[in-house]
Amino acid sequence: MEIRQVGVIGAGQMGGGIAQVCAQAGLAVRLCDIDPAQQARAMAQMRRSLDKLAAGQAGLEPDAVLARVATVSGPEALAGCELVVEAASEQLALKLRLLGEAAAAVGPDAIIASNTSSISLTRLAAAVPSPQRVIGMHFMNPVPLMPLVEIIRAEQTDDATHRAIEALTTRLGKTPVTVGDAPGFVSNRVLMPMINEAAFCVHDGVADPAAVDAVMTLGMRHPLGPLALADLIGLDTCVAILDVLYSEFRDSKYRVCPLLARYVAAGRLGRKSGRGFYDYTDRS
Ligand code: NAD
Repeated sequence: MEIRQVGVIGAGQMGGGIAQVCAQAGLAVRLCDIDPAQQARAMAQMRRSLDKLAAGQAGLEPDAVLARVATVSGPEALAGCELVVEAASEQLALKLRLLGEAAAAVGPDAIIASNTSSISLTRLAAAVPSPQRVIGMHFMNPVPLMPLVEIIRAEQTDDATHRAIEALTTRLGKTPVTVGDAPGFVSNRVLMPMINEAAFCVHDGVADPAAVDAVMTLGMRHPLGPLALADLIGLDTCVAILDVLYSEFRDSKYRVCPLLARYVAAGRLGRKSGRGFYDYTDRS
């Protein structure tokens, strides 16, 4: 089945970016979020991103790309989509519900993908009729700029679904890398312990955030320090991923740093809330 219409659930930083790259590739997109303010923020962010990209990319027409994206409030509005990419908050119960609702709205052959950072695709697929069409499509942040999509096959995923999603990823201008369905996959199994350890360095008084990040950028040539990266990802998302790693592996090396948990409890979620390890209130 040719993919022409894509439904994206969740218009946060990832869902908005996924909608954008799909529209840039010529696909019609329905972007769904329960929060109308978030829908508006996602469209405004897409406009800013496309205007910047268009300055260096001949032929990219922001108006034409944006005209391919419609905002809707719930998965029931996704009827007719050949692909749904779920990118709502990293909570198992929420994702199970949204995937079930999406499956009820689209045809039995439509592919259902999740952008989860850590949750078992096999568990998510089990909540969907015809689970062979469920797959993980783990985009990286910021989606318009990052070349990787980590593809995760659930136990149930069939070859046709896998091939279709690898081909679509390539059509989006990204490189698919397929990995197994283990907690955190490869990306977050490697990345999150580093971010957590960086948070422990601050928690234990070893160094302040700027010093921790300077060691990793200047000393290890990381383009962004782990704490600045945590702020970009969202500290709530980092805690949710670490909780999945901890509960699935039952290994104390994944225990969440109390400082991270405290920041999240205080609403310090990183860039998206204006403050995390750093303050973003003066930056646009
Ligand atoms: P976010 O907090 O920016 O956005 C989540 C969005 O989901 C919000 O707009 C919220 O309103 C929406 N939402 C919540 N309940 C909903 C519902 N019932 N129906 C529709 N929308 C609903 O989070 P994010 O950073 O965009 O992350 C989204 C997903 O992508 C998570 O699974 C996360 O783990 C994953 N992910 C995040 C990153 C990252 O760097 N932030 C990278 C890769 C994958």
